[in-house]
Amino acid sequence: MNLLTEAWIPVRPLPAGAACKLTLRQLLCEDGRWELCLPRDDMELAALQLLICMTQVFFPPQSTAALKQRIVAPLSLDEFESGCAPYREWFRLDHPDFPFMQVRNVSAKDPTPMDKLLAGLTGATNSCFVNEPGLGACLCGGCAAIALFNQSSNAPSFGGGFKGSLRGGAPVTTLVQGEHLRQTVWLNVLSEERLTQIIPWHHATRSQQPTWVAPIKAGETIPSQAIGVLRGLFWQPGHLELMPPQGEQACICCGFVEKQVYAGFNKAKFNYTIDGLWPHPHGPRISSVKKGEREEKFVSFTTAAPAWTHLSRFVVQRQTTNSKEEGQEPAAVVRQAQGLLNKLRLAVGGYRNNQASILERRHELIFLNDGWSGHTEVVHALVGQAVGYRDALNKALFVFSTGFKEIKGAGVKVHELAKEQFYRRSEDTVLDTLARIDFEQAALALLAMGDGLHGIVVGLFNESVAPYRNDPELIRTTAVARKTLYKHLNALKPQRDGRRDDGTNA
Ligand SMILES: [Zn+2]
Repeated sequence: MNLLTEAWIPVRPLPAGAACKLTLRQLLCEDGRWELCLPRDDMELAALQLLICMTQVFFPPQSTAALKQRIVAPLSLDEFESGCAPYREWFRLDHPDFPFMQVRNVSAKDPTPMDKLLAGLTGATNSCFVNEPGLGACLCGGCAAIALFNQSSNAPSFGGGFKGSLRGGAPVTTLVQGEHLRQTVWLNVLSEERLTQIIPWHHATRSQQPTWVAPIKAGETIPSQAIGVLRGLFWQPGHLELMPPQGEQACICCGFVEKQVYAGFNKAKFNYTIDGLWPHPHGPRISSVKKGEREEKFVSFTTAAPAWTHLSRFVVQRQTTNSKEEGQEPAAVVRQAQGLLNKLRLAVGGYRNNQASILERRHELIFLNDGWSGHTEVVHALVGQAVGYRDALNKALFVFSTGFKEIKGAGVKVHELAKEQFYRRSEDTVLDTLARIDFEQAALALLAMGDGLHGIVVGLFNESVAPYRNDPELIRTTAVARKTLYKHLNALKPQRDGRRDDGTNA
């Protein structure tokens, strides 16, 4: 299975049609309009990211002008052939010496079943497929390659003794979505100019081989600035090896029946140290200053809060010099899109994990209306405002739950439940505002969003305290909590008519 020549890209035609598989050449050199077609959103995002990484390495556009040309027109066959030529042997899943993203002769006591390579599949909470116990889970070559890439780039490690991705445990990936797959791939490829800005050692490391051709040495300490673009984008942190393929079967991921499928792999613990952060272009980073030292890391989903609460980090660049504020560095591909696109469709994906186990998969699209790129401060303010409404509700119900000084609390964590409900009910209001807002004149839209969120918060507060209405001991608690709520709500909303939000006159 060679990713450069065989048909492995699972797609369906736009606007509708039957699923099929394309070669990389068909995707990049023909004019078809396709979208990826896999049953799991995380595997689709990983397939897209794999295509982007291959395109970035094989066909880097020299300038922004060249990139713009690639976004609108297919690649010529000559460009395709000459771009792929140096890499032909390195992208074979079954290469006898250098199999794609694997090492040969991994010694493991027992092979690991293939479903372990589909991140989170074997965890009970979020399994998408239900496999009957005892039935072998098989992946076709294409899906095995996508799963290997996803496991090494986006998923938590297999556990103690196994290294995680170059970006840390379970990083968030943000990519720019185009109108069809070929366009989406190019929208996320950086021009050479931009690549050199974020990875200044790019030219010096151009001839580097990937980790499966020139392996990482056990125990080695590697400066992040020694890692070139190809090696970093396809970094394999673990020692994995697919077992020899079996005969014809249906793939549990794409559903296609293939002549050769993979049923298991071997894995072995392996350790080394990376010194510094490798500036991966597909993920947003945050930084803070602690004791005068700047610390930087990739964003990950650490709580149940939905993706929009992180949106400012995804699109707004902010530098920090003090210890109170967080610095933000959007993914390089998103920053590049600022100069290319009026409207932004941002594909966001990541896992929420607890060490090796995945608690949640989170993959969604967020739309930003025309003018976003010149007004990212509005995005920052908008998200800040919406989070403010969440916090007003949370603070008021926390008072209700725990009490205040001598006033007794309800003793039930109503604020936790209400926060979840807030996320559920506010999502449309926030996302609609982002998709429709006139960034030139944002004040009105912010006011309207504030009104909407105000109504949601007051409604949730009333619903949360209603069951305790008949408890005489909680009457004062409710009153104090309500006062707390309006204090915080009033601070959020500019008053237009002198009327307070609790209906009394100021
Ligand atoms: Zn498959």
